[in-house]
Amino acid sequence: MKRYAAPPEEWDCGILLSNIRKNGEPHGEVLELPIHGSVEYWGQSYAAKGPLSVRLTANYAGENIVVLVEIKGKFSLPCSRCLKETILAIDGNMRYLFTLRHPVDGGKRRGRQDDGTEADEPDGDVDVIYLDGYQAELDLSHNVWETLILNLPERALCMEDCLGLCPVCGCDRNAFECGCSAEEGDPRFGVLRGFE
Ligand SMILES: [Zn+2]
Ligand SMILES: [Zn+2]
Repeated sequence: MKRYAAPPEEWDCGILLSNIRKNGEPHGEVLELPIHGSVEYWGQSYAAKGPLSVRLTANYAGENIVVLVEIKGKFSLPCSRCLKETILAIDGNMRYLFTLRHPVDGGKRRGRQDDGTEADEPDGDVDVIYLDGYQAELDLSHNVWETLILNLPERALCMEDCLGLCPVCGCDRNAFECGCSAEEGDPRFGVLRGFE
């Protein structure tokens, strides 16, 4: 089982530019990308429960190419209250705009930089990626990865009203009514307290 902090190398998710029609008609591709291990994010391990289902839709908008990345997958994470393994159904999307035109604001490049860090966010919910020149293929593995990790919840709950572990005796309060209360402290002294 591997721990991934970046897209798995075996991911193959490129779109050949020759497949995108110049008339603006969308081109779609459906992929199943394997994750044999866990995704590391928020300081936690999200164990993959199967491949990631991906739909890529690309179309020209003038000179630019707009790509919608949609992902669906199942991961497991311990419940943040009782630690029980909890399945998370991840379903999310992001939109990217690939452009050759660089903004003319004094040479400052916005959007995705070559080193992968984010500069100023452009308006709206579209991530702008500036290219030095269109290659034959747009490699979207980093975009798919980003769409995945930005849709991972920071915490999992096995159920909405999970009671968690008892802070006094450590039992799972969903399964067991231990009768401890926070004021009681160590339950072994509860008997003595009755004589006070
Ligand atoms: Zn729980
Ligand atoms: Zn207890």
